[in-house]
Amino acid sequence: MIPYGKQDINQADIDAVINVLKSDWLTQGPMVPHFEQAVAGHVGAEYAVAVNSATSALHLACLALGLGPGDWLWTSPNSFVASANCGLYCGAQVDFVDIDSQTYNMCVAALEMKLAAAERLGKLPKIVIPVHFAGQSCDMEAIHRLAQKYGFKVIEDASHAIGGRYQDVAIGQCQYSDITIFSFHPVKLITSGEGGMAVTNQAHLAEKMQLLRSHGITRDLQLMQNKIEGSWYYEQRELGFNYRMTDIQAALGHSQLGRLDEFVYRRQQLAEIYTQQLKELPLICPYQSSKTSSAFHLYVIQIDSPKHERKAVFEFLRQAEIGVNVHYIPIHWQPYYHAMGYRQGDFPKVEAYYRRAISIPMYPILTEFEQLKVINTLKEVLT
Ligand SMILES: *Cc1c(COP(=O)(O)O)cnc(C)c1O
Repeated sequence: MIPYGKQDINQADIDAVINVLKSDWLTQGPMVPHFEQAVAGHVGAEYAVAVNSATSALHLACLALGLGPGDWLWTSPNSFVASANCGLYCGAQVDFVDIDSQTYNMCVAALEMKLAAAERLGKLPKIVIPVHFAGQSCDMEAIHRLAQKYGFKVIEDASHAIGGRYQDVAIGQCQYSDITIFSFHPVKLITSGEGGMAVTNQAHLAEKMQLLRSHGITRDLQLMQNKIEGSWYYEQRELGFNYRMTDIQAALGHSQLGRLDEFVYRRQQLAEIYTQQLKELPLICPYQSSKTSSAFHLYVIQIDSPKHERKAVFEFLRQAEIGVNVHYIPIHWQPYYHAMGYRQGDFPKVEAYYRRAISIPMYPILTEFEQLKVINTLKEVLT
């Protein structure tokens, strides 16, 4: 089976992990700040906070921005459930903004209309989380303009997008957002096994996330409230969590980061070949805005033919040992969100997109031969 995504681990990655295993540290130790500094440097952000998953990073980002009961968080329904669940973890309510049918990202016009309506009702969101779907940035300048006007905070969910660019600036520089988060799950652009990171230019947000990732405990003598009893002394200042990244993960992530540019280059090459080779078929290839350079975490096609059902095409590809997938079942269709009152029909554009979408294999070690098989199988089923 050719999978839809796959990690690429080389000898240097393996050696980096083995070196940690032979060292004094296994859990969060010197490799974690090493990896954090490398990511911050790579994307051009001031601060980086490594955690055990992007889900944890989203949770901490929401807490650092003060999200709590009575607040609203808005995100895209075309995402993994974690983009929305982080709001619920904080006791806030979650709502969605429909997508743009061309980019499959949060639609800025829909956001603007929803904000105007929410203002009248006194229900403006505290946080909006745009998701850079498949690796292509949302229109962050426009979202930032609305954030200024309506006073909400912005977390970029860049789980798909480390290595991508917007207006020729690396995603993660946070010029139009408060915090950007990355995922290092094996299927994403680079991996640490499991892992995530939040980057920001605001020191107080970084400090808050650092505190919360490890139980809300500090050993910083400057911050102590009570008398320092001795050099063993620490204080819990907040209700935090154990969201720490291990040094094993950080070493793998750091080694992989050195290969990110090469990975993204290869993904962009594969995307170009797909777009070229599939253009005669009744399907829609990913639209690319001139303001963006996608990291191409995913390559999604939409079946655009009355004669071909998405399901039949999907099953045909699976029969041919091509491990296609679908990204995403709209979040508001999940039973958990249905129970909160969301219904089919609430966000028609994401629903129309979902009914026709298939993610085809896209990863750096996909061979020319394997890609040709994917292309030829699509030609076979669609003509
Ligand atoms: C993968 C993913 C996440 C969660 O990442 P984990 O590191 O697995 O927690 C969040 N948002 C999006 C858009 C993702 O694709």
